[in-house]
Parts: sequence; structure tokens; C-alpha cells
Amino acid sequence: PMKQRLLVVANRLPVSAVRRGEDSWYLEVSAGGLVSALLGVKDVDARWIGWAGVNVPDEVGQRALTKALAEKRCIPVFLDEEIAHQYYNGYCNNILWPLFHYLGLPQEDRLATTRSFQSQFDAYKRANNMFADVVNKHYQEGDVVWCHDYHLMFLPKCLKEYNSKMKVGWFLHTPFPSSEIHRTLPSRSELLRSVLAADLVGFHTYDYARHFVSACTRILGLEGTPEGVEDQGKLTRVAAFPIGIDSDRFKRALELPAVKEHVNELTHRFAGRKVMLGVDRLDMIKGIPQKILAFEKFLEENPSWRDKVVLLQIAVPTRTDVPEYQKLTSQVHEIVGRINGRFGTLTAVPIHHLDRSLDFHALCALYAVTDVALVTSLRDGMNLVSYEFVACQGSKKGVLILSEFAGAAQSLGAGALLVNPWNITEVAASIGYALNMSPDEREKRHRHNYAHVTTHTAQDWAETFVSELNDTVVEAQLRT
Ligand code: UDP
Repeated sequence: PMKQRLLVVANRLPVSAVRRGEDSWYLEVSAGGLVSALLGVKDVDARWIGWAGVNVPDEVGQRALTKALAEKRCIPVFLDEEIAHQYYNGYCNNILWPLFHYLGLPQEDRLATTRSFQSQFDAYKRANNMFADVVNKHYQEGDVVWCHDYHLMFLPKCLKEYNSKMKVGWFLHTPFPSSEIHRTLPSRSELLRSVLAADLVGFHTYDYARHFVSACTRILGLEGTPEGVEDQGKLTRVAAFPIGIDSDRFKRALELPAVKEHVNELTHRFAGRKVMLGVDRLDMIKGIPQKILAFEKFLEENPSWRDKVVLLQIAVPTRTDVPEYQKLTSQVHEIVGRINGRFGTLTAVPIHHLDRSLDFHALCALYAVTDVALVTSLRDGMNLVSYEFVACQGSKKGVLILSEFAGAAQSLGAGALLVNPWNITEVAASIGYALNMSPDEREKRHRHNYAHVTTHTAQDWAETFVSELNDTVVEAQLRT
């Protein structure tokens, strides 16, 4: 039998495109977890639809890029610069991202925000329509269409308007906030209704799914059932599908001679000191200042540890053109500078802060030599860094300190030390507890997490979602 086709629709395609000439493009495929997850799904033939991340105003360039992307099983959506700006920077990143992470709507300049709000939402809908056009053009009967994330909440409705028989799933990679937060959004009802047009709606955790259902019951007045949300006899199935990682990819990397050598170098470099690690995009949701202040408190209260522990913080730059993110960067630099000035010596500093990303192999080596990983997200859909750390700790069996506000706390709670990142006293105490933990306890906690991370992979996640989507559609047909 022919394999079922899976159309994965996401804001960004998993490739970076660099223009080399009028009709020539250089493509680099990003080897992230989501890509290998979806390519690994059994019995489906996956292709991607999304924005290539570049503005291509001319037809010659668009045609050439479309052709080059086809070889990577990618189909581009072309957004003009103004729409891309209002939709992506505006509505997605300035409105939905902070709101879904409980940071509220922008408040700096209320009037300006309120006025630009409607035009940003219009651009959001227009952009979603452009995605829908491309999907519709490539859709063949029997295909499964899987829409991803807060960028494309309007897409399920657009797709069903084109073709009510299309099998449509939507998955949110961020938290879905309490209905009391979602209520503040001016376009709250329209967004909920368009998501409900999907056959299956998925979230990382049961809590996010429950928040979504109660937003639909309280804001739209619909009926919530254990299965999902019902509107005049039509059921939209809502469920939790916790994502995982491709843990084998990390284990394989650690077997490479170059990575082993890097591990040895790092071990030598930090000999005599325990290594603590933070890996985050430099985003307000990651609680980086809170983490560093907790580390300071720990050093303050434990003088004997001052020359025996080091915190390596990798802070990957993100949305660097946004003033709030620039402010966060300088705030973090100031705290790090103060603490290193306070506790550093002529030959060593307690915090190594890097404002850049690492390549995959360097990251694996760092995960492997770490004694204690610190994840202090104030809100985080899942947090894959915590999973990746666990996958790389097969021999070291280090400790994971994990925010209870990360989705990962639901799955790694038994092995990790859970903390409230706002409670600096508690985090500082957990750092002490982690550094002093007996090998027995470390081993036991690690075993829990390792078993979870290696058995709940990204591939399982994708397979479960797609098969649930197929089942949901069959069940709906049986009901009518
Ligand atoms: N990451 C990376 N390079 C780096 C640091 C991190 O590619 O220098 C990756 C990391 O391996 C992980 C992702 O970025 O897969 C971060 O995912 P997570 O879910 O933790 O947070 P997000 O950034 O999606 O909010």
C-alpha cells in the first residue's frame, strides 16, 4: 500500500536558505529533534510547509528557492516583509508568546499597543491564510495535515473552509495558560474557534489541555467533556502528547572520538571543581537572573564551595532587535559581572557566561561533564534541555534541578529536584543538596529520568499524534 502523506505545517521550515545568486540558493537543513522525529514516523511520507525565513520579493528567486527546497521535501510559503513583520514579530512574538507564558499583554504604551493590536491580528490572519493556500494547493485526498504552534492558530479553520474532509491536527509547543489569562486577549474567541475547527488538538501536558478546554467552556460557553470540546454535536478531540527527544542521537554523539576528546579536555579544565550548567535561549521565560541570583546566594552561604564549583551558563541570543530582550541581556551581564567581581580570584571566576550558541557536539560534551544542571524557567512548554542533559548522563549520573513551571516537571519530577524558581532561598538550598548528594541517591534519581527520556522519544510522540488523528477522524465518521 502507498504510504500516507503527512503535511507538517510550521512557521519555519527546518532549513536555512542563503541566496547565492539570482537563481541559486544554498540550503542548510537543521538537524533538530523535530525533524528526525517526523522523518522517523513509520508508514508516513512527511513533507514540510513553512516560511524559509528570508524575504524573496522576486519571482525568479521564488521559483529557484521552491525548486531547491523540493529536494529537501520542503514547500515554501512566501510572506512579504510587512506582513511577516506584523504577523511574526508583532502578533506572534509580542502578543501571543508573552501571554501564553503568563507575562501578560504588552503594557509599556497601552494606547499604541491597543491601536496596533487589530492590524497585527489582521496580518496574523492574512499570514495564516497564505499558509492555508499553500497547503490546499499541495493537499491530496487522504493526507494528514499537522499544524504546529501558536503561529498557526488560525490555520485549522482556514483549511476546513477549503475542504471539510481534510484531516487536520494542531499541536501547541508552548504552555496554554489559565483561561483567566487567555480572557484578556482581544481576539480570544476567534482564536479558540479557529483552533476548534481541527479534528485533534494537542498539548504537552494535561494541565495545558485542561486550560484550553476551560477557556472554551468559559469564554465560548461550549461543553467540555473528558474527550475534548463539543459544539452542537461536533467533537474536537483535545489531549496531551508530551514531546520527547531523539535520545539515540545524543548517545551516538558521545561515542564519537572528537566528542570524547572534548569531554576529556573539559574534565581536565575543570578538575577539582563541580560543574553546574545552564543552557537557555536568553528569554525572560527562562528565569536566568533568578538562577544566577540563587547561585550567588549559595556561594554567599557556603564559603567552602567557592573555589570548588563553577556555573557555565550558555545564553543563546534570541530576538535581539527587541528592546525588552536587550534589557534582559544587560541585566544578566550586570549580575554576572557583580558576582564574578565579588567571588572571583585572580585565576578563577565562579560564573562563565557565554552569549552564543554551541554546535551540537560541543553541547553534548558539556552535558556529559556536568554534575548539576539548572533549569529555572518561569514558564516553559516542555524544556528539552532537561531531556538532553539526562540523555547524556549515562556515565556521570548527575543531578537535574528543574523548575516546577516547565512542562518537563510532569515527566521528570520523580528524578529531578523540583523547585519554584521565584524562591531563591529554595533554589540555593537545592544547589547545596544536589552538590552533596550521595552517589546512591544520584544513581536512583538518574535511573528514573533516563528510563523516561530513552523510552518516550520524539518519534513515539509524532507517531502517537498522527495515529490518534487518524483514529479521531474515523470515530467522527462512525458517529454521524
Ligand atoms: N540548543 C542549540 N544550541 C545551543 C543551545 C541549545 O541548538 O547552543 C538547542 C538545545 O539542544 C535544545 C533547544 O536548543 O534542543 C532548546 O529547546 P528547549 O525546549 O529547551 O527551549 P526553547 O528554546 O525551545 O524555548
